[in-house]
Amino acid sequence: MLITANENGTGTGESGGYTLSANDRCDSCGAQAYIRVEMASGGELFFCAHHGKKFQEKLSGVAKSWHDESAKLLES
Ligand SMILES: [Zn+2]
Repeated sequence: MLITANENGTGTGESGGYTLSANDRCDSCGAQAYIRVEMASGGELFFCAHHGKKFQEKLSGVAKSWHDESAKLLES
């Protein structure tokens, strides 16, 4: 039986299959990260919802992908 995403809203990420965990921490403040940014240069950054929003505009030119799970904060 194959179950992919969206079985109960906490499923396995819809963009690229990457799911952030409690071990992922914001690079700016150390809070739990809900946003993962893949850089065009090959590196990656993690941000909490607050700092993700703060840096989104600045990074939009150099980010290759923007994986945002901050919606999880609003669901429960
Ligand atoms: Zn932060």
